[in-house]
Amino acid sequence: MQYFNELQLQQPIAQALQSMRFEKPTPIQAQAIPLAIDRKDIIACAQTGTGKTAAFGIPIIDRLLKHPQKTALILVPTRELAAQVTEVLKDLTRFAPSINGAILIGGMSIRPQIEKLRRGVRLVVATPGRLLDHLDRRTLDFKSLDILVLDEADRMLDMGFAPQLNKILPYLPKTRQTLLFSATLPANIEQLSARYLTHPVRVTVGPVSRPVEKIQQSIVETTAAGKNETLVDELHARKGSVLIFARTKARTDRVARHLKKYGHSVARLHGDRTQGQRTSAMAGFRDGRFRILVATDIAARGIDIPHIANVINYDLPLVPEDYLHRIGRTARAGAEGHAVSFITPEDKAQWRAISNFLGKTGKSSAVFVSPRGEPASKFAGNTSASRKKFSGKPRRSNPRRRPAGRPA
Ligand code: AMP
Repeated sequence: MQYFNELQLQQPIAQALQSMRFEKPTPIQAQAIPLAIDRKDIIACAQTGTGKTAAFGIPIIDRLLKHPQKTALILVPTRELAAQVTEVLKDLTRFAPSINGAILIGGMSIRPQIEKLRRGVRLVVATPGRLLDHLDRRTLDFKSLDILVLDEADRMLDMGFAPQLNKILPYLPKTRQTLLFSATLPANIEQLSARYLTHPVRVTVGPVSRPVEKIQQSIVETTAAGKNETLVDELHARKGSVLIFARTKARTDRVARHLKKYGHSVARLHGDRTQGQRTSAMAGFRDGRFRILVATDIAARGIDIPHIANVINYDLPLVPEDYLHRIGRTARAGAEGHAVSFITPEDKAQWRAISNFLGKTGKSSAVFVSPRGEPASKFAGNTSASRKKFSGKPRRSNPRRRPAGRPA
């Protein structure tokens, strides 16, 4: 499939694609949509930013248009992802008023959700905990459920949602189509698939866990005490919007406070903030009112804001895999992006673990190394001598002893 119009989609969805200026499918869409229309169960492994939301959204809406009694459920790990998926579905159902949806997420009053469900909905986007709440209260049933999507399935398991998923399973009709999307395919995803899917077809776009190639990755060597100063330098040297990752909720708040002192417009996102605060932080960052979003790993996956030009790992992620998810927030939909990681002497072991993990993915990435304390961006136009092909092997030299101004 080269163009969407080869698919003979129902008119309202075809019209929506036109108005969204989606003419050609992305690779994951080209593979998954015909299979999904053919009613196959699918395990789709795709990098972030590949267009996976429309890869399940388009066949679902096409199906619901053809079968006016049927409904669909999309399970996602986080409230942010739920909101984002809902936005895409709203766009896709712009010309299909008969397909109404509900978003069932925690952190918000359950009453309006119950009211909405009472009026009847055909497209539910939910996080597992809140969905179970509704199922237990019998405010929702899945008698007409036709398609189930497990989005960011690896993240759902990482977040400990397996017990909730197992409780949801008995509520679902046995005859249904199930589409599972995951950035990675560890063993526990295979187990999940064995429970939820029937003879699934596998679809993979690009090697598993490989960062999008357009991301220019670099590190800045600094110290724990020097991080804030380094951050301010980086923000001055960089253009465009910036997503900064910090390790804890308290550190997120501290970094944001520090940047505000320097006159930066900063939003904050972490699990201790209310749903209202989280929504307005995301909205403000999305529409450009805040140039900077400081967040914990809650923002590491699923968030799609096309204009994020820079990701800064103020703190390294604890899990090497999360490095890929974090940096995948930039270079969305083919744009250029930069990812910078701050490395203190205490971080060396963790950076080695990340390097080894990246090396194991088989595809080394060009990592651009700058001397301690110097913003990496200063070297952006440097000769190839300062560019290191990243082999995934730990570096032996001690970067702290490197003469200033000389790249590693
Ligand atoms: P996703 O991986 O679903 O988060 O999508 C990443 C980005 O790609 C989103 O900004 C989408 O609007 C965009 N996108 C998805 N499919 C297409 C398409 N077929 N043509 C152009 N842009 C697309």
